[in-house]
Amino acid sequence: MAKDKEKVAYIMKLLGRKRGVEVNISHDNDSDREINKLDTNPEFSFNPQDSPIKDDYISKTVDDQEDTEMLILECYKEHPQLQFSDKLHLAYVRKSLQSQLPHYYNSLDANHPWMMYWLANPQSLISEEPLTAQIVDLINDKISRCIRSEGLGGIAGGANQMGHAASTYAGVLSLILTENYELLDKIRHNLYKWFISLKLPNGSFAMHVGGESDTRSTYCVLSVAAILNIVTDELVEKTAEWLLSCQTYEGGFAGVPYTEAHGGYSFCALASFFILYNKKSQFQEKSSVHLDALIKWAVSRQYGVEGGLSGRTNKLVDACYSFWIGALYPMLESVTGEGELFSREALGHYILRCAQAEGGGFRDKPGKSVDFYHTNYTLCGLSLCETLFTIDDDDEKEDSIPLAFKFMYKTIDSNSFTGPINPVYGLPFDLTNTCRDHFYRLDNEA
Ligand SMILES: [Zn+2]
Repeated sequence: MAKDKEKVAYIMKLLGRKRGVEVNISHDNDSDREINKLDTNPEFSFNPQDSPIKDDYISKTVDDQEDTEMLILECYKEHPQLQFSDKLHLAYVRKSLQSQLPHYYNSLDANHPWMMYWLANPQSLISEEPLTAQIVDLINDKISRCIRSEGLGGIAGGANQMGHAASTYAGVLSLILTENYELLDKIRHNLYKWFISLKLPNGSFAMHVGGESDTRSTYCVLSVAAILNIVTDELVEKTAEWLLSCQTYEGGFAGVPYTEAHGGYSFCALASFFILYNKKSQFQEKSSVHLDALIKWAVSRQYGVEGGLSGRTNKLVDACYSFWIGALYPMLESVTGEGELFSREALGHYILRCAQAEGGGFRDKPGKSVDFYHTNYTLCGLSLCETLFTIDDDDEKEDSIPLAFKFMYKTIDSNSFTGPINPVYGLPFDLTNTCRDHFYRLDNEA
């Protein structure tokens, strides 16, 4: 009610009228917002910063942002320590993989390969132990049943469904996690033929035959083609030009030209350039990505109070963007030579103190439930907070290998909670390299 009164007063003020309503939109005296009172551990250099929102225009977006900040501050007070419950997270993903899912998971019936990836990847990131033989068999069996015509029809989301580029991406990542090179070798040339059938005249790719095309479907095709070493000039003709047309006036990338910049699409577009380009210098060309604009947009996604990242302008913090936006930073840092573009420490605090659920698994934000998707991408984000990346593209013998496979990493702290990932794939660093060595050596020997 008080907020409604404030809004009316504000609108009246804008209209130049007062009508006896006291106009007071400042929160200066609002003790709830005095975030400096937060009793933080003196060992932390991260302290939530006051947000510029308090004197801003009053709208639903502003109200939601303010409510979220208060929620996050409460969460920081309730969780003063940086703890990591690896055993609980492992129990959560293993149980979800090995037992029958409750009926409300029916809505994920077109996402079987995704669920395999979301559940197997966290184990590979936080456990020293390899996947058990039982889980490896389960994943291989599940993905095998989704492969259409030995790959000529791609990989489907479920046993009786049609091939789909996103399911193909998730299915191939799952087979990389189980190191099933026999099956990948068998389907890779058939997948190439299917990808060619998805290619559109503008350079992008359709999700499935007759389906939609966007930066997401294009990344799914390119990333699979690159890791299986089946990229040809015919496959990527006009693709870079099309992707460049998706960069918006804000600096981020949209799904298709002339729409809104978004974290997921920006990841897909920039990661695609790490597949299309083999040299850092290609990013410096005039006809390439507007790096300064992209950096400006990307760094604006980290919020001062929350420490976490949002996916779009004027949207709330959400832990899954710890990867979609979080991966933009090391990619940009490694091609520009800029220093650190985000506070790894602040994002780590958001992940460990706000997004980590007490019973295991990760959530978008406090008050939301844990799920497989947020658990995987939040852990990928945590890994990015614990690692610094550079790119070595000096070796001329490797000129034909995409930049995506030229990262080198350094772990910031020897006590990190996760293993390193490849920022273009969201897979464990070593597994991506093993896969690259298998397919690139295999073709060089042929
Ligand atoms: Zn999310």
